[in-house]
Amino acid sequence: MPPSQAELLALADQVFIKNYRQQPIVLERGRGCEVWDRAGNRYLDMTAGIAVCGLGHAHAAFNARLTEQLARLVHVSNLFWNDQQILAAKAIIDRCFGQRVFFCNSGGEANEGALKLARRYHVIGEEPQRHTIVSTHGSFHGRTVATVSITGQPKYREGFGPLFGPVEFVAYGDLAAAKKVLATKTAAAMIVEPIQAEGGIVVAPPGYLAGLRQLCDETGTLLIFDEVQTGVGRTGMWFGYQHDNVAPDVMTLAKGLGGGIPIGAVVCTDKAARGLTAQPGGAVPHASTFGGNAFACAALNATIDIMETEGLVERVAQAGQYLANELAELVADFPGHVVDIRGRGLLRGVSVTGAPAQVVAKCREKGLLLSVAGDKVVRFAPPFIVERVQLDEAVGILRDALGEGVGKAA
Ligand code: PLP
Repeated sequence: MPPSQAELLALADQVFIKNYRQQPIVLERGRGCEVWDRAGNRYLDMTAGIAVCGLGHAHAAFNARLTEQLARLVHVSNLFWNDQQILAAKAIIDRCFGQRVFFCNSGGEANEGALKLARRYHVIGEEPQRHTIVSTHGSFHGRTVATVSITGQPKYREGFGPLFGPVEFVAYGDLAAAKKVLATKTAAAMIVEPIQAEGGIVVAPPGYLAGLRQLCDETGTLLIFDEVQTGVGRTGMWFGYQHDNVAPDVMTLAKGLGGGIPIGAVVCTDKAARGLTAQPGGAVPHASTFGGNAFACAALNATIDIMETEGLVERVAQAGQYLANELAELVADFPGHVVDIRGRGLLRGVSVTGAPAQVVAKCREKGLLLSVAGDKVVRFAPPFIVERVQLDEAVGILRDALGEGVGKAA
């Protein structure tokens, strides 16, 4: 007899470092926007693996492409090129400001690469004193030592010092604060998310990203957009910055890039690429054994091709607007309980006066998977293929949970 869900949960309790706080279910299969646990319970998935699985689960065309690639080539390292990585880099730069790509395996790693690029960019430009990274309060950039150091939420840094630095934090959306720090011309780069997702789905105020672009141009600072969560269609455009009339020097990607297969990328202009370009006779300045892995890049190519064929970016914009309208009714219907609705495309937050984790737990009991973003927000980040009837079902379950009073301040 294969182990039951209860047995697997008991085993997990014994064999894992207890860093996470998983919900008490063991998922074992999925289809589209639905997943099933080991005990046979069905859940509507509005998390998509934390804004990852845009194509949903077990997408037939995606699986066919992965299977074909498995039979051909999985990994050769960066001692050689592989066909998939070259096509994958081209697929990215065809859709954004970028001219050059470095592949890695996760969002934190992409941001690490961007930090290294930023520092060395100035060394090669003969301004080696520009060490500082400017970041924003409430941001989230990853879990490596350097990326927790530039994450503007102290809870992620506690216990891990001495940290990477110098880092200067400024208020998100505050151009005057950014101007003051950047004017010192000691910053290598400013890093910012077009939407602070883990910070509670906070959309950059109009003109903020363009204002930062101008400040960075005036002061010779590199501008990095962390699009790990907002990139690859999630906001209803290919990349989150495309809602504003502005482009960064460097953009970091991961999450949705491989449709669920781990892959990250640093994307940059030709000029910024000098920060990670090998010098004649010099060492390789940055590398990753798995970066550009043929299988992961085939997943990226399949994800982008399927998103194009199925018109998923436009679909995200439409479905996102529909979801936002449905959620907005909760603000009116639950005064003193639901505060506001935030976000763009299919990255939406419902801010509550009480504990969002209680809302998430109650919804799970009712067959709906959601996640928490920040201290007060319940996050919707469903697969891009989500149907209206599924959005209706999800909002209905959330409405029921709120009706029972969960997530309301005492
Ligand atoms: N940057 C942003 C904006 C993120 O949302 C995340 C993850 O949530 C990361 C970086 C870290 O990505 P990863 O968990 O793949 O390292």
